[in-house]
Amino acid sequence: MTDRYAVIGNPIGHSKSPLIHGSFAAATGQDIAYSAIEGPLDGFADTVHAFRAAGGFGMNITAPFKLQAFDLATDRLERAELAGATNALKFEGSRIYADNFDGVGLVNDITRNLGVAMKGARVLLLGAGGAARGALLPFLAQAPAELVVANRTMATAAGLAGKFAAHGRVVASGYAELAGQRFDMVINATSASLKAELPPLPAEVLQGAGLAYELVYGKGLTPFLRLAQNAGVPRLADGVGMLVEQAAEAFVWWRGVRPDTRAVIDRMTIPLI
Ligand code: NDP
Repeated sequence: MTDRYAVIGNPIGHSKSPLIHGSFAAATGQDIAYSAIEGPLDGFADTVHAFRAAGGFGMNITAPFKLQAFDLATDRLERAELAGATNALKFEGSRIYADNFDGVGLVNDITRNLGVAMKGARVLLLGAGGAARGALLPFLAQAPAELVVANRTMATAAGLAGKFAAHGRVVASGYAELAGQRFDMVINATSASLKAELPPLPAEVLQGAGLAYELVYGKGLTPFLRLAQNAGVPRLADGVGMLVEQAAEAFVWWRGVRPDTRAVIDRMTIPLI
């Protein structure tokens, strides 16, 4: 019998998850159906329960439901617990398991696909929203020399740095305090690029960096990536690899089979021009 999975978000029309999971299933011979569900803004839990009752095995969660999915879970894995958000659920009997694969997907893209080591690196993470929170534990597990989290709202970054201090060297910053500093890689986990905006990043901060990574994907050269290009950063990447890698982690969690991600990333990549 075909096992059912879905991604839930609002809006959901743009989601690439059905395409990605369909490709994984075809390549690994897994008999699954994967659909996209537009969750009602005031009825998320009911929609999840209805999907489970109809035989659903698991769901990917996207904006704006990652916090509600966290609350709905009966069991949370450490990454989800620390992030306070989940992007994948697994249903087993009466249990709803929650994990968060965004961060590990990002780390896998940087270290495996792009071949850039985080160990010993000075890393600057821009933003302190859901995506940044999910990235902190997997980042710190790579043992960077220092992880600086910069956010417009400094208190949010400070809260995060405090929460994760036991896991590695993490420092909170405002944007102005970054002036004059240098990093090995700069990762834009803000949503600024969705509005074609640029975080208030002193331009010299990008000089000398080996990688500039933009979580937003499919938009070509965003203002952040353009700033990095102008600063001479040799490697630029958007978040399409992260998207595919987090999907692969969820696929392994649900199905026990690891799909190859390279071909899917190549098919979805839009040149950064
Ligand atoms: P949130 O809404 O939770 O957080 C948004 C963050 O962006 C906050 O830190 C906010 O700062 C900051 N921000 C927004 N606008 C600006 C601006 N103009 N200048 C500086 N900072 C700004 O979003 P998420 O964390 O969930 O997502 C962030 C981005 O990551 C999204 O664009 C999303 O598309 C992308 N993403 C990509 C994924 C992938 O697989 N490639 C997966 C998940 C997310 P403040 O706190 O000060 O308001």
